[in-house]
Amino acid sequence: MDELNTELCVLQSHLDGMLSCVQQNDLKSRRFQKLEMNLLGLNALFELIEHVLDDTRRVFDLDLITFCLVDEKQELAGFLREDGMFVEQTPGLMLLENDQVLCELFGPAVRPYLGEYRKDKCGSFFMHGQEFPVSVAMLPLRRRGRYLGSLHLGSLDQERFTSQMGTDFLERLCSILGVCLENTLNFELLRRTSLIDTLTGVNNRRFFDQRIGEEIDRVQRSGESLSCLFLDIDYFKSVNDTYGHQVGDRVLAEIAGEIRSQLRNSDVLARYGGEEFVSLLSGAPEPTAIEVGERIRQTIENHVITTADNRLVKITVSVGVATFVPERHGKGTKFDPARLIEFADHALYDAKTSGRNRVVSSGVIPSALKPVSIVQYKIAPPAGN
Ligand code: GH3
Ligand code: MG
Ligand code: MG
Repeated sequence: MDELNTELCVLQSHLDGMLSCVQQNDLKSRRFQKLEMNLLGLNALFELIEHVLDDTRRVFDLDLITFCLVDEKQELAGFLREDGMFVEQTPGLMLLENDQVLCELFGPAVRPYLGEYRKDKCGSFFMHGQEFPVSVAMLPLRRRGRYLGSLHLGSLDQERFTSQMGTDFLERLCSILGVCLENTLNFELLRRTSLIDTLTGVNNRRFFDQRIGEEIDRVQRSGESLSCLFLDIDYFKSVNDTYGHQVGDRVLAEIAGEIRSQLRNSDVLARYGGEEFVSLLSGAPEPTAIEVGERIRQTIENHVITTADNRLVKITVSVGVATFVPERHGKGTKFDPARLIEFADHALYDAKTSGRNRVVSSGVIPSALKPVSIVQYKIAPPAGN
């Protein structure tokens, strides 16, 4: 009887061990799936890099991670800079002028390398910190027979990455990341050659920069006013953090649609960057521009976005207004378009610092050379403030 009990205990402990292993794998698989979904939802290269360096490290519980991208045309650093990411200030990110070191690292068979950290083989990929890993997984990122980059996972535990280890998860990560990287790079190129923002369908910054000069020339000829609205979604980062990036993207597209719905066809609307939009209201004096801004603010405040899992997302925007009245500046005087944006941006800053979800105007722009003093004209703040 005692023997039977002992056997039962042993069996039970085996079962417990197997169950815990299954549970751990299930947890790992779900965390991995979430990482994949996050990666697949990204558009901009800087976001992909941030996710790769932060999320992958967290999901895989790594001691070190580095990521390198092949930048043969030497344009990626510029793309990133435009979005506020500086390669030299991003630990773990490296840009390579060509794929030579990757060809040497992964060899003709292009196999991931898992095993001990060897300085001669992996040293140049872990140079940014004081610490070096003990075991590593070096993963090639390729699409259509071409290296796009590579991802390097490092651990201080010798047993963490070994040559006998199964590589299913890691190979899948390489494939997904390769696809995401290729899409993102294509998207970045498109973003720079097109005049339309692909996410929201409204015009992009490039279009706006061309158009603002033309609009100023036009009102200088006609004598009409030209107002600029600068709109920024409030606390948008927390939308991404709470509901995920894909919901964030949908919010951006819906908000762009709501703004557009309050403008005339002749008004310019562009996505200025991230969660910022800018509009030019041709022929609109300051009070009209404030009214339009307020209408947009209210429309967005009343708009509810429903997520796929039926959660309700509510958004507000802050709006800065500035108005250019040509007669204030004298005939034939060259007016710098940057001043119109600068004044609208100042007003937006005031709208943010005074509580958000409001419209603030910096008024009519004074003639040049006068000291910049922004006269605030605040719309009645929304109820409850
Ligand atoms: P504030 O009220 O001060 O404007 O706060 P905020 O959180 O809106 O501003 P912050 O500048 O801190 O964050 C902007 C966020 O917008 C961070 C960035 O990840 C996110 N973002 C920028 N572009 C995109 C995009 O294309 N899609 C998504 N989902 N998020 C984006
Ligand atoms: Mg912003
Ligand atoms: Mg914002």
